[in-house]
Amino acid sequence: MLSPRLRTALAAATEDQLVYDLAGVESGFRRLTRELPGVRVRFAMKAAPVPEVLACLVDQGAGFDAASPNEIAQALASGAAPREVHYGNTVKSDEDIADAYRLGVRDFATDSVEDVTAVAVNAPGSRVFCRLATTGTGAVWGLSRKAGCSGEDAVRVLETARSLGLTPSGLSVHVGSQQMTTAAWRDAVDRIADVLVSLAGKGIRLDHVNLGGGLPAHGYYDRAARALNPPVHEIFATIRAGMVRLRQLAPGLDFLIEPGRHLVADHGAIRAHVMRLSSRTQLNGEREHWLYLSCGKFNGLYEIDRLQYRLVFPDHRGDPVPAVIAGPTCDSDDTFGEGRFPVPVPSQLRSGDPVWIMACGAYATSYTTLGFNGFAPLPLAFLPGERVTINV
Ligand SMILES: *Cc1c(COP(=O)(O)O)cnc(C)c1O
Repeated sequence: MLSPRLRTALAAATEDQLVYDLAGVESGFRRLTRELPGVRVRFAMKAAPVPEVLACLVDQGAGFDAASPNEIAQALASGAAPREVHYGNTVKSDEDIADAYRLGVRDFATDSVEDVTAVAVNAPGSRVFCRLATTGTGAVWGLSRKAGCSGEDAVRVLETARSLGLTPSGLSVHVGSQQMTTAAWRDAVDRIADVLVSLAGKGIRLDHVNLGGGLPAHGYYDRAARALNPPVHEIFATIRAGMVRLRQLAPGLDFLIEPGRHLVADHGAIRAHVMRLSSRTQLNGEREHWLYLSCGKFNGLYEIDRLQYRLVFPDHRGDPVPAVIAGPTCDSDDTFGEGRFPVPVPSQLRSGDPVWIMACGAYATSYTTLGFNGFAPLPLAFLPGERVTINV
């Protein structure tokens, strides 16, 4: 799973850092566009709001899913055309909408009459896509309540859009982050199909469907299975079949997808170091080994409560012992799986030994604190991509 390029870079690193393999990001992008021909990709910026990564994706032809005026400004600064940037957050103030409009954005996600009314006032004439709720079943993070509405609501929202001079342009979904089932996409397509039919009954014909994020990364461990094998090929086949079906209902429909994690997670890895491997007896009398790393929840591994990252100990010393893995801070949340899932680590690890943490390219920098307990954000390093420039 660890590419030779990343392995060489991690081995050469003498200080902690997060290394992005931009050539890996590029080849992952090309694989995605081969799997889903004709689908425009709008990278969900929050997964890696890193200028070098964004520039690399723009070079490949990606647009962006932005969630605030600041993200929109960053998308434009990395070379994206305003028409390739959409405001994908259903949560936005009047002022945010006006700022986005001023920056040239004309595509807005919405999921309520209140929000779409504000879009009509502050971004007149824009296109809106209504987000449908999904169950989130099968995903590591379900994302099922905060954004998205029912099909009936969506019809009402898009009718409101039309009556207020906006263009009812699309429907969107998000099936949940690190979605591991094909059923989730099949279910999303069913919901979209129902709403397309209802909208046609009201004389509303949409021009696109946004398939959202949720595509899984490969490189995490599943705590139960100890290995993770997301069925990506079947997921892509399900999405292709779904697109055929939706185009039968609405000929000429265009498709967007807004992956975050899938495009970057596997192409970033952290070089950290061992703080201490120690053992302590807990109140229940059980003796536990704890491995404290220099990197944890607050400086790169925010998702450690749900994900079991793969660790590599390049200077591995000694027979494996099961240890609970934790970050360097005083916060007890700064622990892999809250201490419930010990993993085998070399028993003779010493303070300062290097540790490599795989598949940290998504949600690492954006979730990093400014220096909780004085543990600073990790410096970034980059392995170059091809930097093929495409005229936008
Ligand atoms: C976070 C987010 C994404 C990306 O999700 P991933 O699971 O990382 O692919 C896409 N679209 C929207 C609207 C989001 O909020």
